[in-house]
Amino acid sequence: MHYRCNFCNNKAEVLRNKFYFCESCISISVNDYAQAEKRAMRSIKYFQTFLEYEFKNHIKVKFMPIEKLLEGQALGYFCYSEYQIDDTWIGYILIRDDLPRHAFDYTFAHEIVHVIIAENKGEYIDLPKIEEGLADFIGRDYMLKSGRKDRMKRIEYASIRATNTDPIYGDGIRMVNALVSEHGLMKTFHDIISRNFKIV
Ligand SMILES: [Zn+2]
Ligand SMILES: [Zn+2]
Repeated sequence: MHYRCNFCNNKAEVLRNKFYFCESCISISVNDYAQAEKRAMRSIKYFQTFLEYEFKNHIKVKFMPIEKLLEGQALGYFCYSEYQIDDTWIGYILIRDDLPRHAFDYTFAHEIVHVIIAENKGEYIDLPKIEEGLADFIGRDYMLKSGRKDRMKRIEYASIRATNTDPIYGDGIRMVNALVSEHGLMKTFHDIISRNFKIV
């Protein structure tokens, strides 16, 4: 029985905290802060440039502690800082320290969407699927726009979700896909974060 790498579909060599890795994905893992911060900055720039979004708070990358890893299957989480600096907070994006760089980029962009939703909390989005759908859609769009070849592997992995039956991620990406084909990504993004959208 062969297992497939969760990040590129090659033959997997290792199982680490619920995810299969191949040797090539292990060799490009983002596991030091200098590299992680550089990639995080690039991702933040994408939101400022392509989506014309101005952040109100700060974002910091933090490698995820093992207890969090053991909680579930997540690649990353977002949590607020416990303290504030002048009315702003720090959104910590907790991320596994063994992700291949394409999965790191995808996950980081996905988690930034949660930061943005949190900082635009006019009212609560009582619809986790639209939040996760937007986060996945944007994760994928970021990969496409930054377009290095190794990153494309993760897009294929993400696109599996377009056919998946998960009531949150599957339905969510389908809803956001429909909104984007009707209004474009820029409008869909700003409509969702300002809670100005209708689900049909
Ligand atoms: Zn792989
Ligand atoms: Zn999410």
